[in-house]
This record gives sequence, structure tokens and C-alpha cells, in this order.
Amino acid sequence: MVALEILKKTGLLIATTNRGKFSEMAYPWQKEGVATLSLKDMGGVVPDIAEIETSYEGNAALKAHAYCKWSALPTLADDSGLEVMALGGRPGVRSARFAGENASDSDNLVKLLELMTNEEQRKARYVSFLYLVIEPQLVLSASACLEGQIAFAPAGEGGFGYDPIFIVSGTHRTLAELKERKIPLKTHRILAMEKLLQLIKARQC
Ligand code: IMP
Repeated sequence: MVALEILKKTGLLIATTNRGKFSEMAYPWQKEGVATLSLKDMGGVVPDIAEIETSYEGNAALKAHAYCKWSALPTLADDSGLEVMALGGRPGVRSARFAGENASDSDNLVKLLELMTNEEQRKARYVSFLYLVIEPQLVLSASACLEGQIAFAPAGEGGFGYDPIFIVSGTHRTLAELKERKIPLKTHRILAMEKLLQLIKARQC
């Protein structure tokens, strides 16, 4: 059966508790007639799957397979991060834990700004890697980037994570400002989702 038809019948678990990520990841599926659930909708005790891999792909695959097995539903997981050129690609896969295991978004952002003090090369990019497990033997993946620069100080109240210090290329605004003003923008996650949907539509399985 065509993969999209399977998803229309079963629905799709989107393996995140982050509201911002869920709305970015759910909308394209809802437009295709696929019902979406987040981990928060699952009820009961949701297992925590630690991101122990060293690549985005490894972590996304780990989460998608584990939550698919746990829920018995097709599952989509993302692993994402911010890569700063002057820091050799850091924080990368460790973006959520950059300032320590239990670091808050604000701790991570402050640490990054400190490391970037007096740094003129401020190029950076957000990366999203998506991994979809429809059945254990039927998987698809896609990734995409959003290019930008690290600001010298935070600006904007929208979004999460590093959004207040990520100036989106071609806009002169941080992602937090753009989200606050509800300016439509294709983020790394939305771009990766578009690629994934193209793959799934092209697939005759
Ligand atoms: P994970 O994908 O749950 O490992 O988290 C990735 C981390 O990267 C987040 O906690 C944020 O710190 C950062 N990040 C990834 N994508 C975004 C984004 O779209 N906005 C803001 N921060 C992001």
C-alpha cells in the first residue's frame, strides 16, 4: 500500500513534547489528511529516550524506532541543532545540552554568546534531521538547513532555544522576532518536512 495511505488510516505520532516543534511538524500532515498526535496526547507514563548518539540521524532514528515500538503507531522524530562556523560546528547535536545536562534555553544561549564575544565571523545554521518509521522495515528520512548569523545580543520574544540570537539570512531579524511578528518563514524543520512529504508521495510501496 502507498505509504501515505497507511498514515491516513493509522495516524502519526510526532515524537516531541515541544509545542513549537509539534506545530511545525504536524501542520503539513494535517493538510494531507493524516491525524497527528504528540507525546503529550498519549497519556500514561511516556518513556524518556535519551539522545545518546553522536549524529542528528542517529538520534532521530533512535527516537522514531523506540516510540514506534512503544506506541505501535507510525512515528516521526526530529533531531535538530545549531551549528556555528566559528565554533567548528558546535553546539551541533549537543545544542539542547550545551551548557550542561539540565541546562535551560537561556543557559545555552548565554554560554554561546559568551563564546562568541569579540568574534567577527558569526555565520551559523540550524539543521533539522527527520526520521519517519511507518513500519520497522519501512523508514524514510530527510534533512534541511536554515542559514543565518549569531546576533551580538538577544532580540524578540517568540520561538524557543537559540531563536533570540539567530538572525535569519536576508531578514536582519532574529527568528524570535520573526515568530513574534508571525512573519511566515520556512524553517529548517518545515523545509525538511517538505522534502519528506515529497519522498513519501513519490514512493509506491
Ligand atoms: P533536540 O532536537 O530536541 O535535540 O533539540 C535541539 C536543540 O537545538 C533545541 O533544544 C534548541 O536548543 C536547538 N534548536 C533546534 N531547532 C531549533 C529551532 O527551530 N529554534 C530554536 N532552537 C532550536
